[in-house]
Amino acid sequence: MKILIVGGVAGGMSAATRMRRLDEAAEIIVFERGHYVSFANCGLPYYVGGLIEDRSALLLQTPESLASRFRLDVRIDHEVTGIDRTARTVSVRDTVTGNVTTEGYDRLVLAAGATTRSVLPAGSSMPVHTLRTVDDVDQITALLTRSTGPGSAVTGPSATVAAVVIGAGFIGLEAVENLVLRGVHVTAVEFAGQVLGPLDPEMAAPVAAVLRAHGVDVRVDTSVRTAAAGRVRLSDDTDVAADLIIEATGVLPDTSLAAAAGLRIGESGAIWVDDTQRTSDPLIYAVGDGAEKIDAISGGPTRIAMAGLANRHGRAAADSIADSAGDGAAGALGVAVAAEPAFGVAIVGVFGTTVAMVGWSERRLLSAGRAHRVVHTHPSDHAGYYPGAEQMSVKLLIDAGTDAILGAQIVGGHGVDKRIDVIATAMAGGLTASALSRLELAYAPQYGSAKDPINQLGYVADNLAAGTTRSLQWHELAGALAAGETLVDVRTAGEFAAGSIPGAVNVPLDELRDRFGDLPTGPLVVHCQVGQRGHTAARLLSQLGREVRNLDGGYKTWAAGAAALAASPRAAVASVLPVSPVVPTPATERILA
Ligand SMILES: Cc1cc2nc3c(=O)[nH]c(=O)nc-3n(C[C@H](O)[C@H](O)[C@H](O)COP(=O)(O)OP(=O)(O)OC[C@H]3O[C@@H](n4cnc5c(N)ncnc54)[C@H](O)[C@@H]3O)c2cc1C
Repeated sequence: MKILIVGGVAGGMSAATRMRRLDEAAEIIVFERGHYVSFANCGLPYYVGGLIEDRSALLLQTPESLASRFRLDVRIDHEVTGIDRTARTVSVRDTVTGNVTTEGYDRLVLAAGATTRSVLPAGSSMPVHTLRTVDDVDQITALLTRSTGPGSAVTGPSATVAAVVIGAGFIGLEAVENLVLRGVHVTAVEFAGQVLGPLDPEMAAPVAAVLRAHGVDVRVDTSVRTAAAGRVRLSDDTDVAADLIIEATGVLPDTSLAAAAGLRIGESGAIWVDDTQRTSDPLIYAVGDGAEKIDAISGGPTRIAMAGLANRHGRAAADSIADSAGDGAAGALGVAVAAEPAFGVAIVGVFGTTVAMVGWSERRLLSAGRAHRVVHTHPSDHAGYYPGAEQMSVKLLIDAGTDAILGAQIVGGHGVDKRIDVIATAMAGGLTASALSRLELAYAPQYGSAKDPINQLGYVADNLAAGTTRSLQWHELAGALAAGETLVDVRTAGEFAAGSIPGAVNVPLDELRDRFGDLPTGPLVVHCQVGQRGHTAARLLSQLGREVRNLDGGYKTWAAGAAALAASPRAAVASVLPVSPVVPTPATERILA
């Protein structure tokens, strides 16, 4: 069995090493057009920032180490330029000598990853960097070292070096953070109306605030017009200084070899594969960023460019190849296992704030017209009485019919990573949202709470599913008030004075029983700071016969939503989320008086 692998990083190298563990007799050749294999691409931004000091730490393996441990024939600086499926050969160009050779295969694995797309208009005369390879970071760090030295304490507008990062997605924000750590003044330019596009706007707004607090000039609803002579002209006709431009505007699956060879390209634009990573040619497999995935929420094809999936599917391709061999290869053990659909679990850290998500956002559910419920909570990562507790903001998306968990987003500090993984695991295991309330999770005061944030989500979900409580979302509030509902803020007078929602009347929860008679007739919306006292108020009022809904996530979520809309005049989100300005109603005017 002769197996050729195109691409020697995440997916390709997982396939190669698993293949060797399954079949000692196989001939395995890995072609990598770059100069490095199996490098830590996820670590690249942190080398730029100086957190990873030793460049060699990025280089996890070499052709020599892979040869000695796995007897792999790894050929760096070799680009596969074409596939002849009839002859079962690939053509390979040595990028150093230019020599072209032909190599035959029994099985071929495509793990060529993704390509970048440049949004910089033609006519721009400044070099633009990407942050994808070791060569990229060598160039960026050389430029920074020339300009700032190995590191600089000066950040913000007074920094001597300026950079523009185009694209405020996950990798763009990692680039931003690490440039700031190097003392660079950074302008983050984002075409969409918010940073971190996969998040819902009220969850992304606090991230933008964190960036600004660290001196980053965040420009949403903005694109780059031109770049020349150290200046970048933006679409709002302002100029910003730029010694360095990094483009992080997302990736597209690299389907070039597959498409040229006539392999099927899926609806998502990535290489179509079956659930054992086999392409439309049974002798050719595809894994990683180039290969199509099945979306766990819709069951349809999707593109997800994440390292975990690339590694998992590389391994699965090896299992599938070993299973398909059927040639009695001595010791071949692999058994093809159908791939699980992908949830798209992702996490990123920005200046100590952790942002994580899984599954679908509210915006996506609304666009798809899928009936859902939403829960926002703002729990502490561990018991409030134990020092160092940090608040996080959690959003859970739930199928309105089945109570299935459709997605989650968490922004906070400690403990975000743990909670997103618990939710992702619950989703993979098919637990309902209400079942989160019954999960038995590890607790001691420094790690969690007796009612863990995950349990709390479950309690709210359970109450919604059972009809014990009714809620409305921050973007639905204006409509409710315009329809004549009364907004009652049940926080303390001090909290109310520190900031309130226009049109709200303040009746603190502890006074609600006594002042119940003062409330106007008609439907009520109650709210507190994070939703918990609001729930108690809603229960009290509904037992007193009132029609009442609790503002989900309370003032904190509403304020984050308002900040998101204020930051984006275009309010890309508003096309999906039906938001309108808050208008005080006669009822609220009356009780205010
Ligand atoms: C800066 C950065 C940070 C990231 N951080 C994270 C993270 O924190 N978490 C996460 O889950 N994911 C992260 N990712 C994404 C993750 O790295 C990718 O999803 C994963 O590497 C994809 O694996 P792959 O094998 O498909 O492609 P890659 O790992 O990109 O490998 C593809 C290789 O194929 C080679 N190649 C392409 N065409 C040819 C050809 N014709 N001939 C020979 N060789 C070829 C390329 O040179 C490349 O080395 C990050 C990516 C980057 C760039």
